[in-house]
Amino acid sequence: MSNELLRDAYERSERYLSGVDRQRVFPAASELTALTGFEEPFPETGQNAQDILGQLDELGASATVASAGSRYFGFVVGGSLPVTVGANWMATAWDQVASSSVTSPVADKIEKVTSQWLLDVLDLPRQAAVGFVTGATMATFTALAAARHKILKKQGWNVEEDGLFGAPEIKVIVSDEVHVTVLKALSMLGLGKSRVIKIPTDANGAMDVGKLPELNDQTIVCTQAGNVNSGAFDPISEICDRAQAVGAWVHVDGAFGLWARSSSSKAYLAQGMEKADSWATDGHKWLNTPYDGGVVVCRDDEALYGAMSVSAAYLKGREGASQSYIPEFSKRARGIDIWAALKFLGRDGVDDLISGCCELAEYFAKGLEALGLNILNDVVLNQIVVSWDSAERTEALIQGVQQEGTCWFGPTIWKGHNAFRLSVSSWKITHQDIDLSLKAIEDAMRKIEAQK
Ligand SMILES: *Cc1c(COP(=O)(O)O)cnc(C)c1O
Repeated sequence: MSNELLRDAYERSERYLSGVDRQRVFPAASELTALTGFEEPFPETGQNAQDILGQLDELGASATVASAGSRYFGFVVGGSLPVTVGANWMATAWDQVASSSVTSPVADKIEKVTSQWLLDVLDLPRQAAVGFVTGATMATFTALAAARHKILKKQGWNVEEDGLFGAPEIKVIVSDEVHVTVLKALSMLGLGKSRVIKIPTDANGAMDVGKLPELNDQTIVCTQAGNVNSGAFDPISEICDRAQAVGAWVHVDGAFGLWARSSSSKAYLAQGMEKADSWATDGHKWLNTPYDGGVVVCRDDEALYGAMSVSAAYLKGREGASQSYIPEFSKRARGIDIWAALKFLGRDGVDDLISGCCELAEYFAKGLEALGLNILNDVVLNQIVVSWDSAERTEALIQGVQQEGTCWFGPTIWKGHNAFRLSVSSWKITHQDIDLSLKAIEDAMRKIEAQK
């Protein structure tokens, strides 16, 4: 029975994935309405397991957003490499508590190996500590907790024991293009969203390093590798040089952009980033592993351990339990998805994935320009910011394309302009998908023009 059930789940998933490129990228209104089928009272008695999977498939699958397909360009969302879906299924079947070698020897081993591979492929300090968290938000939260720990410890303050009331001040610097989740992390750490110093950015969204105030050893500078709209990189190498001279902490939010370091054509954008103190990135965006999985990397093992360990804060070193480096206590074996992706792709495959998406983004941008649209950013990476000739028309175009269903992208505000953003982040996207999407965009433009 349970074998049959798993086979049924497999077959339904298989059917979904083999049809995902033919379904509307965003569900139609009727499919959304059908979701009311889930609004049932809590059953008094248990229901048939196969029927449960059936309902999930029949009502649920058609109301999914087809981000696993090849024409989803919204936010920054990657697909999942098939090998990572398979590994994820197996790890789910194993149901390991991936907290330490005591609760799961296999998860512990694979995550330790994966940590080294990540430091290798991203070319970060090989002795750095690595933690597997839910996403870049939590990775930044975790890294900034380590920063807070170290800065206050130097001032003779134990923040884990005594909290922040009465603690010495920490100066936090971000840019005016800081990702909202960095502010969220700061708010959760008691460092505040509003008491930060915001540094202006250039036309492409990179921090203006000339506007940095004086730094000291009680300063955290939050930098960005890959602006969520434009893909721009802060001048992190220069910032690190200035910070290191005075002992300030530099954090890199590289949710997707950190992967530029693995690309032969784009590594130049991320040069010098290895000098930072901590880094946040995602598996589930550009490495194309399933949700959810992010990675925190921290140069100072002791700072991360001191901030995250539940036991007495002495250094256990790299043999320590993985749960001592992350906020979670129990957790699933997230590293396995990343291990599978890295092993499947290899160094040249990761390069091809990242470089390939960037090439497709350039191709896409040229096509959009040829349609008479404005490219508002310097397309340095995989992100394109686009507008039409007025805010109204830009909005109408987004609506028109979303309704038609061939592809999907969403609105954004870029440097005060109404625009839309396209992200090329999936292994599945091909030139043909871009051509189909350009055609859908052109058709929507013609329709709107005909109305006026
Ligand atoms: C997506 C993103 C985040 C947040 O990452 P999650 O994985 O969603 O938590 C942070 N910073 C940037 C630049 C991002 O693109």
